[in-house]
Amino acid sequence: MKSREFFNADNAPEDPILQEERERLAGNRITKREKVSEMEARLDRFNFDILEQMFKERLQKTGIPVAEANVLRRDRISNLNHPLVGLGGYNTSTNEILIGFTNFRNYASRNNTDRYFTFAEILIHEENHAVSKTRCWNLKKENNEPLSTQSGYSFNVSAPDESGAYEGVGRVFNLFNEGVTEINALDMTEEYLRRTGDLDKKKFTYLRQVTEHGVYSKAIEIVQAFTKRLAGANGVSKDTAWDTIMRGYFEGEDILREDFKEWFGEILPPGFMDKLMRADDEEMTKLLEELEQTPLKKAA
Ligand SMILES: [Zn+2]
Repeated sequence: MKSREFFNADNAPEDPILQEERERLAGNRITKREKVSEMEARLDRFNFDILEQMFKERLQKTGIPVAEANVLRRDRISNLNHPLVGLGGYNTSTNEILIGFTNFRNYASRNNTDRYFTFAEILIHEENHAVSKTRCWNLKKENNEPLSTQSGYSFNVSAPDESGAYEGVGRVFNLFNEGVTEINALDMTEEYLRRTGDLDKKKFTYLRQVTEHGVYSKAIEIVQAFTKRLAGANGVSKDTAWDTIMRGYFEGEDILREDFKEWFGEILPPGFMDKLMRADDEEMTKLLEELEQTPLKKAA
């Protein structure tokens, strides 16, 4: 199974030439973007072979046959300071990683985190989005049909307004997907630094604390609580439950599928997934409380 799949509006596979062309044009834009010498130096130093090897091992561990891991290299990573990019972003349709390098520098100074470690963590976070399942529908924008993209567990839908411009109309499981991404990125960053011989436990623990209390803190908490519950309900270790979550992330599992919903119904409070789907931080806090108060019915 391919990690990146593209479809027309009618769900038929898109002509692969169109995606090649999209990526080629994006490649031209990438070479023209402003280069920051510090970022270039950090990318020069980054060992993409080690990272790719780590992703392949993880895919294998979750039981996915390893043919490819869409780890993006230097030619698909560029600097773009834009409010939408923040610290970093992955573009599903053009297959590129954007790093808001000025934002990164400010973030590391403000939090007093090690710059090398912080940069690696941000990059590995975005590489996780790149390696997790991508599906795009209707990138050609046929017949005013909505444009949809899937990244890992999250789905985004845009639909044309009266002028024909596409606007976001729905995002589901966005924060859940970010929680999974951040947890995995932190673990992989620690492992990456260990393999490159650069791990400083104290500095890394501090970065972990800052990241876990950052913008995705609630998402991380909910994914951790969810993993614990999954493990408890099935009588397996948290590591095994986590492998299941990672498998779904790499394969693009639809967690609203009927058989899943039925199964979740037994281990989660009523309507939990429906609420989680669109939950913001405030709603996630309520969901966490609900989860703690609902006793777990053990699988027979
Ligand atoms: Zn992300």
